[in-house]
Amino acid sequence: MLTETSIKPAICFDNSYVKLGGRFYAKVKPTLVEQPGIVKLNYALAQDLGIDFDALDPESWAAIFSGNQILSGSEPLAMVYAGHQFGNFVPQLGDGRAILLGEVIDNANCRRDIQLKGAGLTPFSRQGDGRAALGPVLREYIISEAMHALGIPTTRSLGAVTTGEPVYREKVLPGAVLTRVALGHVRTGTFQYFAVQRDEKELRQLADYVIARHFPELKEEANPYLKLLEEVMEQQAQLVAKWMHVGFIHGVMNTDNMAISGETIDYGPCAFMDNFSQTKVFSSIDRMGRYAYGNQPSILQWNLTRFAETILPLIDKIPERAVDFANEVIEIYPQRFREYWLSGMRQKLGLFNSETEDESLIQSLLETMQENEADFTLTFRRLCDVALTPEKASSIRILFNDPSAYDNWAMKWRDRLSREFKTPEERFELMCQTNPTVIPRNHQVQLALKAAEEDGDYAPFEKLLEVLSSPYAVAEEYSEYLLPPKPDEHVLQTFCGT
Ligand code: AMP
Ligand code: MG
Repeated sequence: MLTETSIKPAICFDNSYVKLGGRFYAKVKPTLVEQPGIVKLNYALAQDLGIDFDALDPESWAAIFSGNQILSGSEPLAMVYAGHQFGNFVPQLGDGRAILLGEVIDNANCRRDIQLKGAGLTPFSRQGDGRAALGPVLREYIISEAMHALGIPTTRSLGAVTTGEPVYREKVLPGAVLTRVALGHVRTGTFQYFAVQRDEKELRQLADYVIARHFPELKEEANPYLKLLEEVMEQQAQLVAKWMHVGFIHGVMNTDNMAISGETIDYGPCAFMDNFSQTKVFSSIDRMGRYAYGNQPSILQWNLTRFAETILPLIDKIPERAVDFANEVIEIYPQRFREYWLSGMRQKLGLFNSETEDESLIQSLLETMQENEADFTLTFRRLCDVALTPEKASSIRILFNDPSAYDNWAMKWRDRLSREFKTPEERFELMCQTNPTVIPRNHQVQLALKAAEEDGDYAPFEKLLEVLSSPYAVAEEYSEYLLPPKPDEHVLQTFCGT
């Protein structure tokens, strides 16, 4: 039983979203679960948040992270939002199974949301049961923490618990709850919710809240709302460029899954690709390939345009002028994205300065990789070694169906490298910072989930987390995690598990 023995509460909540008022959320308590059990506690993250896991026993944390125990200072609520799902507008979605427990101020003086995902029914649950299954909870835990270790902005995972209750999907699965931490859960869809109702007062309130929380320096600008659009564009452009650099496919870039904070959010059917392909899709529900790897940058522009539309009335009272201002931002997006993308790709190839032909050098590598079904992560990682020791070229050549295709490209690369006065060591160091040795490969993730779901064996999950925690280090002892799937290990589809 939980008692408030210490003077300092287990989690020091400091809530701001709740102050926006009832139009922004529904106050709702998590639904009690049968038998909460700890699967994982993220001690490092807890420390950043000023939470001491050792202050309470594991049963207490199981009770807290299942929603059975509400700590003092927590003001649980489900946020309302709208969103375009696969291009179709839904005027009201909202947290159908997520409940925000409250906010904390972390050690870096940054406000962070603490939210339970899978905590039971809310007024926004629609046809859903408000619950999450163990597999998807572990999947989000693994991939979000891997993204963080890769240096990509993301929501984090503070804990995972089982509920002791079944959830009913295509089959009966063990239920679980994930504790998600975010810089903020406001989405493009949150703006859409108020914009479509023409609630200018709430819209302004939301925009002011977001500016104060995420972009406080914009308050002093002549037109803070136009600057907000620009800043969100910059953040999201950087984010998607980073996804492209590691072969990440989000899978559901609906506007309700685009965080205004610029973090990757909502790990459903997302996946990292093995062999490179611009048209790669894993998600079982993305039948048209709307959210294919190579479409992500242009989908972001579409989503940013939806965001811009919502704040037009704030940007200028005269609609035509507001549209002109917003259009300027949307139109510079492709150029900004390209700059972010190119700069990361140059680094991946070991290029320190820039030349106009670099883009075609990069594109020609990607095309060659696609034609030859070369593994994305291994190709780039082995390029680091080859930059240092040219004799190691055979390790890359074997990744290409036709090894001579690599040779042809590598001649152009060598030629380009020869125009920069850098030592092989300098180049190697630069490249290793952006070319991970290990990513959460689908077949490894699947093995870890299967062991946990079917046998209650969390050892593969723990091991995978450990391997993924330092993705840029050379980890020869983890060789099985570095390799692509064998032919019988290929994962063809991923599922959102809702
Ligand atoms: P997603 O595709 O995961 O972004 O979810 C879209 C919407 O469906 C969101 O409003 C979710 O809260 C809601 N949702 C997803 N799964 C469930 C569930 N099992 N129960 C209730 N709502 C859900
Ligand atoms: Mg979502």
